[in-house]
Amino acid sequence: MLVDVHCHLDFKDFNNDRDKVIEESKRAGVLKIITAGVNQETNEKALELSKKYDIVEASLGLYPIDLLRLNGKQIQSCFEFIRKNKDKIIGIGEVGLDYQESNDKITQKKNFEEIISLTESLKLPIIVHSRKAEQDVVDILESSKIKNVVLHCFSGNMKIVKKASDLGFNFSIPCNIIFSNHFKTLVDNIQLKQMLTETDAPYLSPIKGTRNEPKNIAYTISEIAKIKNLTEDETQKIIFMNYQRIFHL
Ligand SMILES: [Zn+2]
Repeated sequence: MLVDVHCHLDFKDFNNDRDKVIEESKRAGVLKIITAGVNQETNEKALELSKKYDIVEASLGLYPIDLLRLNGKQIQSCFEFIRKNKDKIIGIGEVGLDYQESNDKITQKKNFEEIISLTESLKLPIIVHSRKAEQDVVDILESSKIKNVVLHCFSGNMKIVKKASDLGFNFSIPCNIIFSNHFKTLVDNIQLKQMLTETDAPYLSPIKGTRNEPKNIAYTISEIAKIKNLTEDETQKIIFMNYQRIFHL
């Protein structure tokens, strides 16, 4: 019972063999895949995929860098689309802050705060991206009323990890944990009940030089099981229960 809470199945990387990727994920034991939109076009695609495939669910988001290219009116129309489809989605994401790709911190923070208000009003979980902006992301989320926060592929240091985990935020662990000391330490430092698994496919493959796919969640489970001294079965079950609690209660 595997779950991939964050990937981009709508990306063109999967255009030639999407059916096969989903079939192989099922065969590998994946029960649910959350595909995340990053702009209007991919949000529409994510919704379509969630209609087409029984194991796919959609979260709709606006990537911080994509947002910088839009004017106020365009942003509002993206928000309106999300509001209109709130019953068909399981969360808001991918959203967040990225100071590596743009140092326009002021606009990014303003946009992120507006997304947080939208998420609060829809009472949905949020899936958050942060790069070189971990402290700001945690500080902004701390003052929000969102009940379920998922920090995806979180690279903040252990002091920020501790703060986020004390606030009850959840962490989705990518497959590249198999060669990342940061994620091994992170898993060691947080409780299993605050942990989820993700691929961020097509990115972050555990097999260098290949396209990532949801079936690779098995690598993450095996690594988490080792660190937490549990069987892979126990680890899968707990993480799947976390997914149900965070996204479906
Ligand atoms: Zn992503």
